[in-house]
Amino acid sequence: MAQDTEVLVVGGGSTGTGIARDLAMRGVDVTLVEKGNLTNGTTGRMHGLLHSGSRYAVSDQASAAECIEENRVLRDIASHCVEMTGGLFVKRPEDAEEYFEEKLRGCRECDIPAEVLSGEEARAVEPYLAKDVEKAIRVPDGAVDPFRLCVANAISAENHGARIETHAEVTDLLLDDGDVTGARVRHESGKGPRTHGTPGTTEEITAEYVVNATGAWAGQLGAMADVDVEVRPSKGVMVVMNVRQVDTVVNRCRPKGDADIVVPHETTAILGTTDEEVADPEDYPEEGWEVDEMIDTLSELVPILSEARTVRSFWGVRPLYEPPDVGSEDPTDITRDFFLLDHRERDDVGGLTSIVGGKFTTYRMMAEQISDHVCGKLGVRASCETADVPLPGSEDESVLEDAMDDYGLRSPVARRSRQRLGSRADDVLDTDGPNPVVCDCEGVTRAEISDAVEQSGTDLNAVRIRTRASMGNCQGGFCCHRMANVLADDYDEPTVRASWDELLQERWKGERHALWGEQLSQAALNYALHATTMNRDRDPADMDADVDFSAFDAGEGTATHPGSDAPSHTDGRRTGGERGDS
Ligand SMILES: Cc1cc2nc3c(=O)[nH]c(=O)nc-3n(C[C@H](O)[C@H](O)[C@H](O)COP(=O)(O)OP(=O)(O)OC[C@H]3O[C@@H](n4cnc5c(N)ncnc54)[C@H](O)[C@@H]3O)c2cc1C
Repeated sequence: MAQDTEVLVVGGGSTGTGIARDLAMRGVDVTLVEKGNLTNGTTGRMHGLLHSGSRYAVSDQASAAECIEENRVLRDIASHCVEMTGGLFVKRPEDAEEYFEEKLRGCRECDIPAEVLSGEEARAVEPYLAKDVEKAIRVPDGAVDPFRLCVANAISAENHGARIETHAEVTDLLLDDGDVTGARVRHESGKGPRTHGTPGTTEEITAEYVVNATGAWAGQLGAMADVDVEVRPSKGVMVVMNVRQVDTVVNRCRPKGDADIVVPHETTAILGTTDEEVADPEDYPEEGWEVDEMIDTLSELVPILSEARTVRSFWGVRPLYEPPDVGSEDPTDITRDFFLLDHRERDDVGGLTSIVGGKFTTYRMMAEQISDHVCGKLGVRASCETADVPLPGSEDESVLEDAMDDYGLRSPVARRSRQRLGSRADDVLDTDGPNPVVCDCEGVTRAEISDAVEQSGTDLNAVRIRTRASMGNCQGGFCCHRMANVLADDYDEPTVRASWDELLQERWKGERHALWGEQLSQAALNYALHATTMNRDRDPADMDADVDFSAFDAGEGTATHPGSDAPSHTDGRRTGGERGDS
């Protein structure tokens, strides 16, 4: 019997999209289904660290070696998603000298470039380090944008013929004599042009092979085929600060513990994290003390954090896996390595393999191994090319450099647009009309928002993750309505209002945990702007009033129009630093 697809990949995080790309590039017919939007799961809630491997250089050298290998690959194939900030493992007076030496030795054993800096040298690299930091190890850590990288993988997979279905949840696996032969998928009302299935309908997709790439949900999917996949979901908090207080990844050089890393990410710094086992990857407590702990403990490394504004916090759930006979009590003891579970060998259930554990940094390597495995099952001989072929948008940086002046954009805005768009910058930014900055904090222009609307349709949250608009200092206070205005070019008012509301709710969700000091003032101001002035807490539809979206346009000739001065943002907390205050 003909199958609908050769391989059905379940899960649209880094692992699933990486697998879809790899298999599609080998000529395999692939369908990927994801119950939410791409990056709906852990991938959209990670720390943004491109590991150098040094974090694991003492505790888990196999993982460390994989990380540095993939760190190099991703710098090559996804340069537009990576910022090579560098990283420091810093030692405070109370941290053990032996551990510092062990870390250094471990890095060298794993082929991770590692250089010892004195306290003064470390502060020359990262001026906001505490005065009593004694010394540091400099390593090639970086920052990575998981949203862009996943989308780039999905686009590449589609370019090679894959079908990518978002808002499509597997509700059951199809079984024939105990073997998996496909899945029953429920289509939900996915927003935008990428929706293929009709919302509210159910589809049975038959497949020669099914890959379970559902991360922390892998146990739930496994249960649909009566197999046990022993994922041990472990939650971690991340706290977003108002500006980029550090330009380098700052790690505490001591054995694993909570609150030991600050990652500079775009215009912000992200503090983290914790590691606490939870029963359900979607339902776990988010507690205020976790946020406090991040700020208090990390201020020991970077004292300015104690005075800075916290804009929001978010939690993710690690898809840790432990083979059945290990039985660790402490989730921090569970390996960060990944495992390929062939359910034919393991459980006598054919047609299904699960991939669990691992890290974002090693997603491509995981995808390569599982694609090798699946191709072996299907008799496909093509080999993996994903380590060599650049992802869409990263091919040629010089094109972007040249393009900077062409668009008449001031350099900070142009640089950020170019970084985000990669080799697509020419196409997207070459617009006929005016191209004002819509999101001042992140320097996102209208052309980028329009491009994202074209890709993602009515979903302003999807526009947000593609462009970073509304993710900066004001948390959308000054741009959510302008984003709605761009959407209003193509969609009717009720659709725009619904999407606008969803965006505001999403912004509010993470701000709730950070309501003190200046952030409380900002949240009150946002409320005044959106709820009071723009009536977002009283639906104009009930009041017979239209929303005049065009009134929100920054428009031609305003101060934010490219070619004129872009607005500068400073924050009273940080003085004298021109590095990243805007
Ligand atoms: C707090 C924290 C910080 C981290 N920081 C880093 C870091 O800095 N660097 C790093 O390298 N790694 C980091 N990680 C690890 C990394 O984020 C994960 O390993 C990685 O994102 C997992 O990707 P995934 O695709 O396997 O899982 P996910 O991204 O969770 O993808 C699985 C997808 O499956 C979907 N799904 C589930 N069930 C179904 C179903 N029935 N039907 C259809 N779809 C379904 C989910 O919606 C989800 O989108 C961090 C993890 C956490 C928790």
